[in-house]
Amino acid sequence: MSLRIVTRGCAAALLLLPALVTAQPVVRAFTGSTLIDGSDRQPIPNATIVVRDGKIVAAGPASSVSVPAGAERVSLAGKTVIPGLINAHGHVNTPADLRTYAAYGITTVYSLGGEPASVFAARAEQNVPTLDRARVFVAGPVLMPNTPDEARTQVAGVADQKVDMVKIRVDDNLGTAQKMAPEVYRAVIDEAHQRGLRVATHLFYLADAKSLMDAGTDLVAHSVRDAEVDASLIASLKQRNVCVSPTLMREVSTFVYESKPAFFTDPLFLAHANKEWMTTLQQPARMEAMRTSASAQRYKAALEVAKRNLKILSDAGVPIAMGTDTGPMGRFQGYFELMELELMVQAGLTPRQALVSATRDAARCMKIDAELGTLEAGKWADFVVLDRSPLSDISNVRRISSVWVAGNRVAR
Ligand SMILES: [Zn+2]
Repeated sequence: MSLRIVTRGCAAALLLLPALVTAQPVVRAFTGSTLIDGSDRQPIPNATIVVRDGKIVAAGPASSVSVPAGAERVSLAGKTVIPGLINAHGHVNTPADLRTYAAYGITTVYSLGGEPASVFAARAEQNVPTLDRARVFVAGPVLMPNTPDEARTQVAGVADQKVDMVKIRVDDNLGTAQKMAPEVYRAVIDEAHQRGLRVATHLFYLADAKSLMDAGTDLVAHSVRDAEVDASLIASLKQRNVCVSPTLMREVSTFVYESKPAFFTDPLFLAHANKEWMTTLQQPARMEAMRTSASAQRYKAALEVAKRNLKILSDAGVPIAMGTDTGPMGRFQGYFELMELELMVQAGLTPRQALVSATRDAARCMKIDAELGTLEAGKWADFVVLDRSPLSDISNVRRISSVWVAGNRVAR
């Protein structure tokens, strides 16, 4: 630290000094936990994690990791540590959402569309060792071109905005809207690829999934929900290593408010739930409308198709990236991600598979695995401390003791 002061010169040193004196220590050692590091390693009992300037220096058995002199020690005895959860398909409406996600252990959100400038600004500020909220990646406006020419112009626009990924929707909303034509999405994908950008696709139908795979889409951002996935789709997903984000909670949100859902009384939910949304969702007329909505009933059936397809794809070895589509009204950020993991296990995945889909594999799918997704040397120290292991019961992801981003404790 003193070296830094010197390099910034005397005047700067005087200005920085008070901040440095009160700043948190740059080296922390988290000791005594059982570490699930997100790799294929077995859980490590009595683990030590050493963090310097927000990044992991070493993580492993206490017997093989030495704690540097002067490090601040944080005892996590009796606890289980997992990598911070990564949501591969959320929506961040405001920087405050990043605190909500983090409060539930979602330490990275890949926002697939609609972010305001303030969220772009939040992204620009996050690669710092003082970060204490969720990280965000952005897609900008969801593209809705009508012609191939418009497609190329719109891709150029979001490329100028420096988005992390391009997002399109290919869906007729159960027959109520015009679906983007194949020649238009082919132009989107081609233009994006020429500019070095990947394309995430909202879809619903199996036939569209196949056509979008042929067109080169890079992420399937929802489950196929009209039919069981077949061998040809599985083969193309595997051949191109394209990931699927199941977003099961998106379907749940379309019908669950036909009555007051059980989770509306869960203290964990209530701790950070958007209360305005809760009021709106419990309006009797609104609940009645959902109860009698034909589309709600169709999406309820679609959820079961989505769950079956998740199990088939997972068994086939298609990479799965945990995602929820949280952010729009009624899709509660943070809490829904924990429910998503439980639904994935209900669908037939093991707790380990569900957890990997929300950590290492989500990071790989979104190409952010150089710094995120596992708790290994060189990566950001983003992790969740749980009272019990989620490998024995996935619902233990709710038993959050603390959340850390870049080695800094998240307020919650
Ligand atoms: Zn979405």
